Amino acid sequence: MSQDVLSELVALSNRIGDPANDFVILGEGNTSTRCDAETFYVKASGTELRTIKAEGMVRVRFETVLKLLDAEGVDDQVMKDTLAAASVDAGGKRPSVETVMHAFLLQLEGVSFVAHTHPTVVNAITCAKDGQQAFVGRLFPDEIVCCGVAPIWVPYTDPGIDLARQVRDQVRRYVEEHGLRPKVILMQNHGMIALGATLHLRRGDEMRSLPLEAFFLDYRKQDRRPGEFVAGVSFADAAPGLRIYKLSKRFDQLAELRNGIRHSRTVDEVTRKEGEAAILWFKQVLGQ
Ligand SMILES: [Zn+2]
Repeated sequence: MSQDVLSELVALSNRIGDPANDFVILGEGNTSTRCDAETFYVKASGTELRTIKAEGMVRVRFETVLKLLDAEGVDDQVMKDTLAAASVDAGGKRPSVETVMHAFLLQLEGVSFVAHTHPTVVNAITCAKDGQQAFVGRLFPDEIVCCGVAPIWVPYTDPGIDLARQVRDQVRRYVEEHGLRPKVILMQNHGMIALGATLHLRRGDEMRSLPLEAFFLDYRKQDRRPGEFVAGVSFADAAPGLRIYKLSKRFDQLAELRNGIRHSRTVDEVTRKEGEAAILWFKQVLGQ
């Protein structure tokens, strides 16, 4: 099992790190997966998702890392020492600075993989003034299926323990409010986290896709037929072309918003300019 999930995590990471996707550049982003009840794999610091191999993942103990969430006086040294102590292979690679956040998210029901990225298309909005408003509400049924009933918005925080605590608090609030776990976490001026994705399984010419959470049936038990292997993983774009379709719809929504802003007397000049810049950027991306 641990070798299986490890190779799946590596394949997922390579796919996310593919420069064609524009999800991350160079050493950015990090991924993780649950290994067993006590441990999980997380990307080692100083590795690149694009080229990462099994050796680039570190196996870490949940319990040791999760204690940091409620501990007092967690500075850089405490963080460093705890991460080293939590690693199953002593003296191995250093786990990612976001390991605590991954540990927390992997504890959520139905979450077996966590991927944190900095996609340009998403950050064009998370970095904008009033970016949070652009993500409020849902436009399409498929948006709800893929991204959940609402996103989580995490105000800008330093990476590491502060971000892990912010994410924990926001997730708890969300679960209280909506009665289910989030699928997407957006982080102001930073990026996004996808929880739960679609797996594409292949056996010979046969191909099938299923939600990641449906793949894991039970402890050490997966919905994998003999000879089948994981050919790919995708996020929120399970149907071909959906990503660009959703983007163009978002563009329409932004254009509408722009018109509203243009004719509003209460909007200041900065917001107006930023709205215009976002529209220009989307136009470029969509090649319109
Ligand atoms: Zn990041």
